[in-house]
Amino acid sequence: MSTPSGRLPLAGRAPSLFGALPGDLAGLGNDPGHLFGLAQRPSTWRGGAPALGAALSPRLGARFEIAPPEILTRTEAADGATKFALRLGDGAVVEAVHMPRAVATPRVTLCLSSQVGCAMACTFCATGTMGLARNLEAGEIVGQALVMLDALGPRAHGLTSIVLMGMGEPLHNPREVARALEVLAHPRGLGVPALRMTLSTSGLAPQLSLMASWPVRPRLAVSLNATTDAARQRMMPVAGRHELAALFDAVRALPARPGERVTLEYVLLRGENDAAEDAARLAALARGVPHVVNVIPFNPWPGAPHAAPTEAAARGFVGALRALGCFATLRRTRGLDVRGACGQLARGAVDGDRCPQVAARDGAPPNPTIRA
Ligand code: SF4
Repeated sequence: MSTPSGRLPLAGRAPSLFGALPGDLAGLGNDPGHLFGLAQRPSTWRGGAPALGAALSPRLGARFEIAPPEILTRTEAADGATKFALRLGDGAVVEAVHMPRAVATPRVTLCLSSQVGCAMACTFCATGTMGLARNLEAGEIVGQALVMLDALGPRAHGLTSIVLMGMGEPLHNPREVARALEVLAHPRGLGVPALRMTLSTSGLAPQLSLMASWPVRPRLAVSLNATTDAARQRMMPVAGRHELAALFDAVRALPARPGERVTLEYVLLRGENDAAEDAARLAALARGVPHVVNVIPFNPWPGAPHAAPTEAAARGFVGALRALGCFATLRRTRGLDVRGACGQLARGAVDGDRCPQVAARDGAPPNPTIRA
């Protein structure tokens, strides 16, 4: 089965309602825009799902998968961030984070996953140890946002930003990610402006050009983390295929919008990429693009092959970048911080534990602490 837009669902499953645009909802006997709004406005949901009514449910259910992702676990940090483990229709589990910000106008940032696991195997990233299980369908990406907003209720809402920094490399799944952004931006749904959405990539240089033609183009964040090709290849295997020069050429080739800056994410690892020479090379790279360098002190996870810098060292590194003319910020640590670059979420519902899909792949029982 395919949707009217021609997108194919995962094998054996109907496409998710939450990845449908109004045009996909024609011919169901109701105004497509109204149907889209029912699905995409969690403030109108009842009982954890869209309030479709007895007549509409079977009509939509015949064409779409209408169950949203199921909440497996929900963990709240002292700072108000909430991390969710969400089970999808085939049993796969992804993670997403709701992060409120304490400013005059309520603001929330939703960190979403784009894949189950990740193929990129960055050494500083817990998700990278999982390998890739599968891409997410657009509706499974959008569904994460909707379920979090519904579960947290009115306090969860506000000026919403989206970051694709959860599990997965978004540009490894470009078609579904582009569709998800279009749905998230639609004014009959959440209506998140393109410039309040950010896609973080490990640096798939050839894929970056695709973004230029997306109907809704998010801001770009590049997970940089090292300043020479050799050092980058040691921590990010993808860097062996896409060297820094090609990566920055691809970034510069994207049409710039007024005032837009590329975020250069730099996970600071003690004794590995935190020297004065690193700061100098990073500043030289950054000066080639309108930028914000976001320095992220490494946040260790069990078995991680890296160590965290001291707070003084992290502040010193940021100070050195600023002295060299960089626009640099130090990401503050949060209880449920997404740990920087794309997808440094833990692999499963509990940090360091094994999520069901990894356990199933390895032939071992899933962690019993993951509640069904
Ligand atoms: S940092 Fe991003 S690209 Fe690298 S392994 Fe983690 S999720 Fe994948």
